[in-house]
Amino acid sequence: MPSNDKITDIINRAYETYKDLDRGKLADYIPELGKADIKNFGISVTTVKGETISVGNADTMFSIQSISKPFVFGMALEGHGTAHVRSRVGVEPTGEPFHSIIRLQAKSKRPSNPLVNAGAIAMTDLVNGNSHEERIQNLQSALAKYTGRPLDMDESVYLSEKATGHRNRATAHLMLHFGMVEPRIDETTDLYFRQCSYKITSDDLSVMAATLANNGINPKSQDRALLSEHVKSLLTLMFTCGLYTYAGEWAFRVGIPAKSGVSGGILGVVPGVMGIGVYSPLVDKHGNSVRGIRVFKNLATELGLHMFSHSIRKSP
Ligand code: GLU
Repeated sequence: MPSNDKITDIINRAYETYKDLDRGKLADYIPELGKADIKNFGISVTTVKGETISVGNADTMFSIQSISKPFVFGMALEGHGTAHVRSRVGVEPTGEPFHSIIRLQAKSKRPSNPLVNAGAIAMTDLVNGNSHEERIQNLQSALAKYTGRPLDMDESVYLSEKATGHRNRATAHLMLHFGMVEPRIDETTDLYFRQCSYKITSDDLSVMAATLANNGINPKSQDRALLSEHVKSLLTLMFTCGLYTYAGEWAFRVGIPAKSGVSGGILGVVPGVMGIGVYSPLVDKHGNSVRGIRVFKNLATELGLHMFSHSIRKSP
C-alpha cells in the first residue's frame, strides 16, 4: 500500500508535467461537450481506507458519459442475474469504435459487450422500475451509492445528446428488431441519455473506483453499492474493453481495470488498494483523455500498479 505522501508527490508532479499539454480535441459530436474548458485538469486518488488525495480541478463537474456503463451493467447483474444478462450481452472486445452499429454477434444477435453503446443500451433496458420515473430514480440512486452523494444531471448535455443521438436510437431499434431489448425504446434511450449526463468530478470518480477496489463497499460511507459476487464481472469487462479501441494497449501498458468517457474522464481501479479518477476534456483519436492516459501511465509505472506486476500487493 503506497503512502499518502508518495501518492501526493506523484500526482502533483504529473499535474505540473501535463497541465500545459494541449494535444487532442474536445468531443463535439454531442454539441454541448464542445463547450468544455480545455484547461480543466483534475487528478484524484481515493484509498480503500476512504482517504481522498487530489490536485487541480478535482471538484469541477463534467458529465459522466460512458463511465456510467460498467455501473449500469452492475445494476443489470443485480436486478436480473448473470444468466439473463448474458443472454442479452456478450463479453468480447470489439476492436470497433464504441458507437459501431454493425457488430451484433452473428449467431446470438447480442451486442458484443456492455461497454460499447449497443451493449450499454441493452443494459439500460434492464434497469428495473414500474414507470419511467421509477427507472430514472433507481438508476440515479444506484449511481449515488458509488459517489456517496446525490447526483444531478447536466440538463444541457442531456438535451444536446437527446437532440442529436440518432445513431444510438438506430442501434436501439436494430436491437429491438433482434429481440434484444423491450419495445419501450424511447424511454430506454431517454434513460441512457440521462445516465450519460450525470455530473461528477474527478474526486467522485476516484470514490466510485475505490468502491470497486473495496469489493463493492463505498469506503467513505461504508454502504454497499454492489454485491461482491459481481465486482469481478465489472472489473473483467473494464480490463478488456474499458478504453475503447485502445483497450489492449492500455491493458499492456497500464494494466488495471478502467473506463473512460468522451467528456474526458478516466476511472481506474487497483483492487484492494485504491481508486483513481482523472478529468481533462481533450481526447485522442480513440476518445480517451490525452492528459488522463499520461497520468495513469505515470502512476502505473511509479507505483507498479499493473495487475500482473506484484509489487503493490506484496508490500505490507
Ligand atoms: N453518451 C455518449 C454516447 O452514447 C457516451 C459516449 C462515451 O462516453 O463513450 O455517444
